[in-house]
Amino acid sequence: MKFEKSQKLYEKGLVHLVGAVNSPVRAFTSVGGNPLFIKKAKGSKIIDADDNEYIDLVLSYGPMILGHRHRKVQKAIKKALKNGYSYGASTESEIDLAEIVCSAFPGMDKVRFVSSGTEAVLSGIRLARAFTGKDKIIKFAGCYHGHQDALLVAAGSGLATLSLPGSKGVPEGAVKNTLISEFNDLESVKKHFKRHDDIAAVIIEPITGNMGVVLPEDDFLKELKKYLESKGALLIVDEVMTGFRSKFGGAQELLGVEADITCLGKVIGGGFPVGAYGARNEIMEQVAPLGEMYQAGTLSGNPIAMAAGIATLTELKKQNPYEQFEEHAGIIEIFLIETARKYKVNLVVNRFGSMLNPFFRKGEVTNFEEAKASDSKKFAVFFWEMIKNGVFLPPSQFESWFLSSALTDKDIKKIAEAVDKAMLAVSKM
Ligand code: PMP
Repeated sequence: MKFEKSQKLYEKGLVHLVGAVNSPVRAFTSVGGNPLFIKKAKGSKIIDADDNEYIDLVLSYGPMILGHRHRKVQKAIKKALKNGYSYGASTESEIDLAEIVCSAFPGMDKVRFVSSGTEAVLSGIRLARAFTGKDKIIKFAGCYHGHQDALLVAAGSGLATLSLPGSKGVPEGAVKNTLISEFNDLESVKKHFKRHDDIAAVIIEPITGNMGVVLPEDDFLKELKKYLESKGALLIVDEVMTGFRSKFGGAQELLGVEADITCLGKVIGGGFPVGAYGARNEIMEQVAPLGEMYQAGTLSGNPIAMAAGIATLTELKKQNPYEQFEEHAGIIEIFLIETARKYKVNLVVNRFGSMLNPFFRKGEVTNFEEAKASDSKKFAVFFWEMIKNGVFLPPSQFESWFLSSALTDKDIKKIAEAVDKAMLAVSKM
């Protein structure tokens, strides 16, 4: 397999782009080597600049849940393009997408569209503060909620990959109202409430994808919600990754919990820049123009992005691929576990619906500390062997793999063959 064109583009890209990427998770820092440049994609496959074809388990870090360029999504985008791209005024498509999104989340009477997950969360936090009149927020170590200042502490995703505790350039004042708790540990939340009486909200990735996939223990979210209610604090559920992915109604439907504020992104834009935050009426009425919490966006509710989102969610609802996801992820998990056993490699797999993650370590992974104890060097060898055998994975031990409904039985077989070769390579380290 040759990567000559990607290599050339990488060198060219270094001149005017930082690290030749526009998001650090796309750099191959922790797996070594240079990032691949992508030329095109269709269905379950992605093709790089050198015409190497891969089964895509990155899926743009989640959005492409129907696979790439689904016929109906493509048609909807083309139709929308004929009318215009952006007006700075409302369109019917925003109402249509809002109806679909609110119908999926019982706790959401109103929604506001923004242009990224980061914006959704930073607005959601502002809203929690506006509604409660309190300043402090609690986040969980290893959860990632976008790159806003206040939440760039003990964060997962690219920071975990690069082993960064936080980000340079974030002033102390920006994080002074951020408290950290441990995932799956309610006591670590209660501890903060004992010390502070001005906590507005707790924000959580209900099923984490950004320290790798980590599942909440039984009833953790339900108990957290009950406790927060007793304290007059809000629960912000960051479903940027899990929304419409774990289930149509997101992780909340699956876990039987209702957020006070829900943040969305990724799937709802079908590959275009869309984020959203929503809540019941009394909370959303804080937002301008109804209330005094200001939040705005020139391209918010962009008609092309709305069209892609509507087509994606409509098709998703029709396909209802959630059982298929369970089945496919289960099969891949079995391949991973069995080959690891065969080649005597320590491995644990966490999975949930269409998200899964092998951790190269012995023993379970229930929080950030345990995730961080995984062997990233083994993952790097595994990653490159998977690439060479035609499977595109996120280039990090700490990022979830994603499945699309376009994945075929043939693809699964190819993944299995690649896993066998990759695990063998790991065993020889
Ligand atoms: N929240 C979660 C749970 C995410 O996974 C991400 C992105 N991976 C974000 C927020 C930020 O979204 P964006 O990258 O669209 O700003």
